[in-house]
Amino acid sequence: MRHTRGHTANRRSHHALKTPTLSVCQNCGAKHRPHHMCLDCGHYNGKMVVDVKAKKEAREARLAAKREAMKSMGEAQGQTEEAK
Ligand SMILES: [Zn+2]
Repeated sequence: MRHTRGHTANRRSHHALKTPTLSVCQNCGAKHRPHHMCLDCGHYNGKMVVDVKAKKEAREARLAAKREAMKSMGEAQGQTEEAK
């Protein structure tokens, strides 16, 4: 049902975005969500809960290994196509 511009404006008065509240990390000073671990250093309440650096390195090593595997697979496939 069509309603007045006033009704539409009243409804939309709740649509504004709020700025998120952020806390400052005790360890590195970066901003993070309150009651959540700092995504930059993995600390929460002054203690390290996740070794972010080690996790990142492990992830990069895993991705590099995957890329290498894909590359060698591609080369193997290219050879079989050439043989045909
Ligand atoms: Zn931090």
